[in-house]
Amino acid sequence: MAGCSIARADFLLSMQKGGSAANLWYRFPGSGGLLGLIVLAVSVFFREKETHLHTNQPKPFVIPIFLPHAGCPHQCVFCNQRAITGAHRPFSTEDARAEVERYLAFPRKSTGQTIISFYGGNFLGIARSRIQDLLFLAADYVGQGRADGIRFSTRPDTIDAQSLSLLDSHPVKTVELGVQSMDARVLELSKRGHTTRDTVAAARLLREQSYEVGLQMMVGLPGDEGLQSLETAQRIVDLAPDFVRIYPTVVLEKSPLADLWRAGQYQALTLERAVDLCNDVSGIFYDAGIPVVRMGLAASESLDADGAVLAGPYHPAFGHLVMSARFLDKARALLRQKGISQGQVVFRVHPGSVSAMRGQQNANMQILESLLGIRPRVREDVCLERDQVALG
Ligand code: SF4
Repeated sequence: MAGCSIARADFLLSMQKGGSAANLWYRFPGSGGLLGLIVLAVSVFFREKETHLHTNQPKPFVIPIFLPHAGCPHQCVFCNQRAITGAHRPFSTEDARAEVERYLAFPRKSTGQTIISFYGGNFLGIARSRIQDLLFLAADYVGQGRADGIRFSTRPDTIDAQSLSLLDSHPVKTVELGVQSMDARVLELSKRGHTTRDTVAAARLLREQSYEVGLQMMVGLPGDEGLQSLETAQRIVDLAPDFVRIYPTVVLEKSPLADLWRAGQYQALTLERAVDLCNDVSGIFYDAGIPVVRMGLAASESLDADGAVLAGPYHPAFGHLVMSARFLDKARALLRQKGISQGQVVFRVHPGSVSAMRGQQNANMQILESLLGIRPRVREDVCLERDQVALG
């Protein structure tokens, strides 16, 4: 059984390195379409397994509709959605319909809900008529029973009673806010154009109106030396979101940050520092019982293209690296607690966490063996939570 899980995780990583599901599909057009279909179907299955490593909840099947920079009042310092999403032209409502149909056509094993999701822009900043078109489109799928709900991401300063009234007659379940930081100076240097007060007010109003709330934060922004990220996480916990996403800042070509980086006015986090910091930040959320549904940008052909990422901790398996660091910390703490420093030691983890326990390319096993002098083994235990490690 252990070998089965490891093979699955390794396959996922190789899929991530090769590109996103959508990009793989486009790579096999025409006569290669069937192969593309198979690859995408398998990829969808493994992507469902990949996120939410920390929870045993059924995962939603998310149909992402990317609307790069739609509704953005300006370009935030770190952002270039065209590089992130690979979409280089405005997305029409008909494009959105085709994308939904494409995702719905794939066989999948997920028992979670199917959610049509609008990402990559500032949803409530888009013109009202266009918002309505997109919402009616998604609501139509919910009405037909082919999807279960709608979610979108938007800026905190777009949330007020009037903008939320636009959603009234639509099955919107979840709103994700781009918080990025709860530090005023970091927000200013990142040219976000909103305040922490906007974020607090938006999260409260969404909760009052019973939306599921997801909050997105970043580490490594200009002016953030780590402490600000930890404080941001703590202040996000106070807002009681249903889930969070954590993104390390990377320097994307054609973003304002690229100019600062070239001028020597911004220094990116190293991969090692970003993993450590995200380990600490995610620990704050885990301790508060708040799921972390993603860490790091999703790999894509556009991000993997030469010159797209100029600097910073971009890694196709970033979340896995952070989870591996977390499991290594847990294993070390257990060894310290029990006073174990030699001999064979069996670590039990949930089957879905074997790969994180072993670490990237077995790195955790090698560290435990060479630095701590034990002979580690990993055993699956379905009775444990995803985030747990036990001995014996
Ligand atoms: S971070 Fe959000 S609001 Fe800022 S430019 Fe990017 S998509 Fe637009």
